[in-house]
Order: sequence, then C-alpha cells, then structure tokens
Amino acid sequence: MSFIAINPTTEEVVAEFDGHSDEQVERALEHAHAAFLTWKATSIQDRARLMERAAELLESEIPVVAELLTSEMGKTFNAAKGEAAKCAHTMRFYAEHAEEMLKVVPVTTSGSQSGYRYDPIGAIFAVMPWNFPLWQFIRVAAPTLMAGNTIVLKHASNVPGCAKFIEDLFMRAGFAKGIVTTLFVSHDQVARIIGDSRIAAVTLTGSEAAGRSVGELAGQNLKKAVLELGGSDPFIVAGSADMDATVALAVTARVQNNGQSCIASKRFIVVRERADEFVEKFVAAMAAVPIGDPMDPATVLGPVVSRKQLDELTGQVKESVERGAVVLTGGAPLEGRGYFFPATVLTNVPLDSRAGREELFGPVAVVEVVDDLEAAIAFANATPWGLGGAIHATDQKEIDAAIAGLDVGMVFANAVVGSMPELPFGGTKESGYGRELGAYGIHEFTNVKAFYVA
Ligand code: NAP
Repeated sequence: MSFIAINPTTEEVVAEFDGHSDEQVERALEHAHAAFLTWKATSIQDRARLMERAAELLESEIPVVAELLTSEMGKTFNAAKGEAAKCAHTMRFYAEHAEEMLKVVPVTTSGSQSGYRYDPIGAIFAVMPWNFPLWQFIRVAAPTLMAGNTIVLKHASNVPGCAKFIEDLFMRAGFAKGIVTTLFVSHDQVARIIGDSRIAAVTLTGSEAAGRSVGELAGQNLKKAVLELGGSDPFIVAGSADMDATVALAVTARVQNNGQSCIASKRFIVVRERADEFVEKFVAAMAAVPIGDPMDPATVLGPVVSRKQLDELTGQVKESVERGAVVLTGGAPLEGRGYFFPATVLTNVPLDSRAGREELFGPVAVVEVVDDLEAAIAFANATPWGLGGAIHATDQKEIDAAIAGLDVGMVFANAVVGSMPELPFGGTKESGYGRELGAYGIHEFTNVKAFYVA
C-alpha cells in the first residue's frame, strides 16, 4: 500500500510514501514502549526544554511547512502559516504550564498524607485527519508528551508529507527515537496496533464512521479512547445581533479552511425579525468570497481536499435541491482544473434532505429561519451532534441563554468558534467524547493515582 498526496489545486501527485510492513510496525512499537520507560523518568523541566526547542524549530520553518500543507490538502497559504504558528504557541503553552497542571493534589482524609497524582500511562496511538494536518496532532501531542507519554501517529493517508515532517521535527529538536513516531499503516494494521499491549490508549479525530470503528476496537481491548468527530455546528443570529459584524463572522465561520473544519458553522439559524436583513447581506458577502489558487494571498477560499469530497458535496447539494432546497448563491463546482466549489447558501432545506441531515464538509451554508431565540436553541439542539455552537447578540441575556441552552462542547459568542490551548475542546452526543486542550487535555492520558498514608 502506498500513501499519496494529490495537490487539490493542480490535481498532481506531490508526495508518495510506501506503507510500513508489519515487521516495521513491530519495531516501531518496541521503540515507542522503550522510549516511554526513559521519557516518563525525564523531569518535566527537561521535557519542557525539548518542547520549546521543537516550537522554535517549527517557527523558524513556517513558510516551508505552510507550503507543504497547502500543496497536500489545499488550505490557503495564509491559513497554513497561521496553523503552524498556533502549533508553536501551543507547544510553548504546555511547556510552560504542564508542571502546574500535573502537580500532586493533596486531599484531606483520615490519613496522615493523601491525595492524587497524574502519572503517564505509556504510548498513545493517535489516528488523525487531514484538515488541520499539524494542529490536530500538536493539540494531542503537546500535552501528551509533557505528561510523560510517547505518541505513535497514524495520519490521514492523503497527507503523508505532513506526517513525515512531524516525526522529523521532533527528532531534529532532540527528542529520542520512539518518543514521536509516524507510521504509514492500513486500517487493518490500525486494528492490530490498538490491540497491542504496548499501546496504552487511542485518540481519533475524524469522521463518525472512523470513530465507531476505532471506538469499538478500543472497547474490545479495554483501552481508553478519546474521539473527536464531526458536527453540524449552529450559528444563531439573535434579535440583538450587530448585523454587519455578524455577517462578516458568518462568512469566515463557514468558509474557513475551505469549509472543511469540524467546528465550522454549518447551520445559520436566524430569528424571523432579523432574517431578511441577514439573508440579503450574507448572500452578497458569500457571493463575493474570492476563490482560487490557495498560494495567492488574495484568495480566501481554496479547493476542497479531493475529487471524492468535491463529488460528495456536489451530490449533497444536488439531492437537497431536487427535494426543494433553494440555492441563493453558488451551488455547483467550478469548471476546470482543481477541486473548487464556490461559497454557497441554501435555504428552504428539507430536514430529511442530505443538506438537512448530513455534515456538509465544504463551503455550503444552510439558512433556517425560526420564530425566536428559544426556537433557535431548540433547532440547534435537534441534531445527533454537539460539537460547537455560536450565538451572535449584543444582549447579555440572549448570550447567557445560548451558553446555558446549547447542548454542545463549546459555545462562542460574537466570535467564530475556535480552539485555543487554554480552553478544553471536544463534543457531546455523536461528536465524540473526551477532551483535548486546557488542563483536561493533559489529564486525559494520565493515571489519576490516589495515595493514602495511614
Ligand atoms: P476520516 O476519513 O474519518 O479519517 C480520519 C482518520 O481516521 C484518518 O487517519 C483515516 O485514515 C482514519 N480512519 C478512517 N476510517 C478508519 C477505520 N475504519 N479504521 C482505522 N482508521 C480509520 O475523516 P476525514 O475525512 O479525514 O476528516 C473529516 C471528518 O473529521 C469530518 O467529519 C470532521 O468533522 C471530523 N473532524 C473532527 C474534528 C474534531 O476535533 N472534532 C476535527 C477535524 C475533523 P485514512 O486516511 O487512511 O483512511
């Protein structure tokens, strides 16, 4: 099996790697386990020094790595530079804060000493998606490594150059062999790796289908799992919204990362009294989004990742239109080379059409008009997912109602839902379980070990 990256702008092959054999996987797991025994005994200060060196190295190579990201999965060069910078920032954040987050917690009991500590657990297996090829990994790896675990990466098969870059980066920064390992493996090999006793836990970011498969394997093997899956995040426009600011954020929330972010807003739910104004301005702004070569600094929307994803999105829109949805702008792929789909707005979308019930992983927005904020929150919650959610309002009561009422892992007000090292990140319902980032992210893969001395 080989792992091939096809540039979504040019449709040309840009990288190709051979898959690892079972013998190579065996050696890699042995190294990851052996490295764990040394790494867990390494002081947090020494781990932090290495993490900072890796952050520095990454920062010094931002233009190079950004071009790699753009060529393998099509995000704009500007966005790719931002992603690399955010990774370096997060590595420094955990280098700085891990000691505080991991310190022993004393608890008063009948004993003379008691409390709990956070011990590392071993090699963590990370199965990662292509949409943020660096960030998805770093947001797991930075806390996990600082906690004293090692990490084995199986990246999405269409970003093999990024996968290789990650392993090389940590090696060049001075991390010993086995602390960060990239494997090019098939789904069958993934199943065997999860079952291997040298793997302590598994984390997957990706689709629901992959989540079900990896979650089931983790369950069969009694391994802890964190699952970060898909969503169809609501973007609520409340009665008190500042409309011009809201529309600008709505466009970014939908077209960021070429529409392919798990936490991109996908359903725009507007209260009736503001609907005409929102729809008119939003449609005009989406129609004006510059689409084209992701290396061009003027481009806001690049291609979707693959021919398969372009066909999938086209099929979702087509079926929904046949069922009665109305296209207000966009609606069909661009002719010519590259996997380009324009910024699109749909309305009157039947709930049982594909756009009404599936995640749209591309720049297609669904607008739904409801009577009031209560109805907006109820509509927002009426999905199997619960990843992020946004409320746009100037009235604090409306903001508070959405923060309390949305059944999601993260609510952002008057901002695009995002991730940052300080705040926990994750979903409810079929968007997965477990948390990344914040102190939760570092504690997920530790043994919370209680102690009691009589
Ligand atoms: P995907 O097809 O599920 O792939 C994700 C990773 O899982 C890849 O490494 C893939 O390997 C692997 N994989 C897929 N099926 C597998 C199986 N049966 N057994 C073992 N490994 C398997 O997802 P994607 O298309 O790359 O990413 C898009 C999805 O991820 C969207 O639904 C998006 O919302 C979600 N996502 C969620 C978050 C979050 O934080 N919640 C963040 C980003 C993306 P191969 O490439 O080799 O198939």
